Parts: sequence; C-alpha cells; structure tokens
Amino acid sequence: SGAVDRVDSDLGRMEAVKRLKGVEDRRVGSEVFDELTLKTLYKLANSGYLAVLNGAVSTGKEANVFKGITDNDEFVAVKIYRVATSDFKKMQYYIQGDPRFRVRTTNRRQLVQAWVNKEFRNLKRALEAGVRVPEPVVARDNILIMEFIGDDGEPAPTMREVPPDDPERALELIVEYMHRLYTGARLVHGDLSFFNILNHSGEPVIIDVSQAMVLDHPLAMELLERDIKNVVRDFKRLGVNVSEDDIRKKIKKE
Ligand code: ADP
Repeated sequence: SGAVDRVDSDLGRMEAVKRLKGVEDRRVGSEVFDELTLKTLYKLANSGYLAVLNGAVSTGKEANVFKGITDNDEFVAVKIYRVATSDFKKMQYYIQGDPRFRVRTTNRRQLVQAWVNKEFRNLKRALEAGVRVPEPVVARDNILIMEFIGDDGEPAPTMREVPPDDPERALELIVEYMHRLYTGARLVHGDLSFFNILNHSGEPVIIDVSQAMVLDHPLAMELLERDIKNVVRDFKRLGVNVSEDDIRKKIKKE
C-alpha cells in the first residue's frame, strides 16, 4: 500500500517525466541532474524501469542515491553518479588493473559509465556467489538501478548508524560473505566497514561494491587486509573479541 498511496494509478509517461523533473527542481541542485542525466532518467522511465523518483536517500561524495518507484509500484534504489565532480583519479586507479574493463579514456562520462557497469557486474557476481547485496536491475550511463533495501520505503540504516542486536551472528554472516566474495566471486570489496553494510531488520546487506576488484588486481590483497582491519575494528567496538588472523583464515579457506 505504501507505494500505491504515493503513485497515481493512471500515472502516464509524460507525468512521470514531469515528476522526475520536479525532483530536480525542488529537491536537489542541478549539479546532479545535468541534461544528460535527465535524458538517461527519461530513457529509463520510458523503458519501464522507473515511474517516479521520490526523495533522496543519500548524498554522497560521488553519487546520490534516490528512492524510486517502478511501474509495478515497487521501490528501487537509484544511484546517480555525478559526472562533473567524480573522483576521476580514483576511478582510473581502480579500474585500470581490472581485465574486465579495458578503459583507456580521458573522457569523464565514459569512465563513469564504465564505473557504473563495474558496480552492476560486481553486484551480479556477488549475488551469484551467495553474498547478500542489493540485486542489480539495470545500469545505463551514470545511473544504476537496484533493489531497494528497506521496509515500506524506509531505507535500512547502515550498521554504523544502527549496530546489530546480535553482533556475534552478524560477524559470522559478514565473514561468510567475505569468504564467498573471495572464493566464489573472486572479488575483494575494497571499502568494507559498517558504513557499507546495511542493517536490514538484523540482516547484514553489503553495499557499494563499485570499487570491488578481481583477485589478480595488483591492489586486491592490500585492500583485503584493509577490509579485514576495518571489520575487526568495528566489531571490537561492539565488544566482540575477534582477530584479523581468524577472519583471514576463514575468508581464504577452500
Ligand atoms: P556512496 O558511494 O555515495 O557512499 P553508497 O552505495 O554507499 O554510495 O550509498 C550511499 C547510501 O545510500 C548508503 O549508505 C545507504 O544509506 C543508501 N543506499 C545505497 N544503496 C541502497 C539500497 N540498495 N537500498 C537502500 N539504501 C541504499
């Protein structure tokens, strides 16, 4: 009912476009919705991926996340990368060693597009390996649409904001996901901490896999170690006794 209440049942395409545009005018600076981003949003609306863009979930450094509603009245998360202010250097640094992406470009928009594709494919790979991440729906230009993690349109908080009630169990799950990511998907998250794990009614959901890299990327092992350190630090704060060695062994076990 939540979504239905918010969407007129006879919402037409043009109306959808107007409402998408309304978001630009009322809620966020035009910085996010440059002309090409608006065009891409319209295309996504016309392809049936999106009926309404309804409120900002998060305004990050490189991307904004919005709550969207589909033609079928389902919530989706719409992650829109800003092209103008994206961290070009970082994206190049991470994407260069990845054999899946042979991007040799100095074009910002192309690089962001490759980055969004990378996030989409990483989500798919993680999902296939049994890691709880948002299911990706579509990636186009600088926009990624994925499963909305939350209840009744209320986004789940991060584990940083709302720590898990049962930290021991959360730790076990997260280490299992790191293991599946490593041995199954053959990826390292690379920015893992409670900031990038949502607490969905007690269930950890790993997000923001855009920078996740394949195991033979030259940075992979260094970033795996950083992920392990962050996870140990965050759980120690909750009083869980866990060592980096413990976690490393579990992640790498065959
Ligand atoms: P950034 O790289 O800008 O930090 P994230 O992917 O980490 O982008 O998302 C930023 C915030 O948006 C998250 O902390 C979370 O609050 C929210 N968010 C991201 N993805 C989803 C999702 N699939 N469902 C619900 N909320 C999400």
